[in-house]
Amino acid sequence: MSTIIAETALRELVNTWMGQGKHVAGPTEVRDDVVLYQWLSRAEDLRIGGSPRPRNSIKEFVFPRHEKLYGYKLEGRKIELVETPLPETEQIVIAARPCDAAALPILDQVMNWDYRDVFYNRRRNLTTVVTLACQDHDAHCFCTAVGSGPDDERGSDAMLFNLGDGTYEVRCLTDKGKALFAGALQPSERVGEVGPGPEIRLDLDSIREFLNNEFQSPQWAAMTMRCIGCGACAYECPTCHCFDIADEKVGNTGARVRNWDTCQFAIFTAHASGHNPRSVQSQRQRQRIYHKFEVYPAKFGETLCTGCGNCSRVCPMGLGVLPVLVAMQGVEQVEPSEYV
Ligand code: SF4
Ligand code: SF4
Repeated sequence: MSTIIAETALRELVNTWMGQGKHVAGPTEVRDDVVLYQWLSRAEDLRIGGSPRPRNSIKEFVFPRHEKLYGYKLEGRKIELVETPLPETEQIVIAARPCDAAALPILDQVMNWDYRDVFYNRRRNLTTVVTLACQDHDAHCFCTAVGSGPDDERGSDAMLFNLGDGTYEVRCLTDKGKALFAGALQPSERVGEVGPGPEIRLDLDSIREFLNNEFQSPQWAAMTMRCIGCGACAYECPTCHCFDIADEKVGNTGARVRNWDTCQFAIFTAHASGHNPRSVQSQRQRQRIYHKFEVYPAKFGETLCTGCGNCSRVCPMGLGVLPVLVAMQGVEQVEPSEYV
């Protein structure tokens, strides 16, 4: 026995949630063939299914790109700190891709490892995630190569399966998901299905072997030469989470804020002395790959990548991690004496 909902009823439910004061975000078409996850003001704007995949990720709903941590006032040599109130509004992300939702438990580990990030955790607790199981994929998708897949349940509170006739099977996976859909679902015998997902083109073992042996390889420069360091790959990645903390001051008042940052920017590791330990772009690309496929897995036991393909999809130079990983598998090992 399954439970289903008609698309018209689902849209009415979205309007009901917003009427209750909840914030609802989901895919919206901002112009022809450009879809973004955005806050909704009406359910009609929600684009529930199909391609293309949203160009951004859902991380911005729990980890905003700009966030005030606290304010301050200066009076002579006296400083008064002003607390920033924690968020209080419940929020729902609907029709998220499973590869986006799967990134949330990955971010949870980072945000609770040596320090519990109160802003992140508050938003996470206030958020219910409803995913849409994928029935198609494009050439950039590689979720199946990193242990994920079109109906990966990680990070989802409920999952929708398109039954193809204007109805969706709804699988409520957590108490939050059950509460969200309580009273709104019809019993059914129908069960949604997904395909096998993208063909597996990567061998994580050989990638790990390359990473273990080839940190100094000249192939890094060859594989990543076309990167222009724009940072789009990291900003649209559901798992990238680097931020910078800055003070913004006007007159005698100011705020300490955090903004997204990325290891793809030259200034990310620039020292005050002028020295930069990652002085060329290929070193920054190498850093991103090592963090995702060696450093994070060694610490938390899984890749810092859900195979969503967004980094390749948005890269103006046709790069992102997939082309680098594929090139890495075809690279002949170079003798250390030949390293530059
Ligand atoms: S890989 Fe592409 S998206 Fe990422 S920094 Fe380089 S050029 Fe920009
Ligand atoms: S590294 Fe690329 S493929 Fe992996 S999660 Fe980030 S954007 Fe998606």
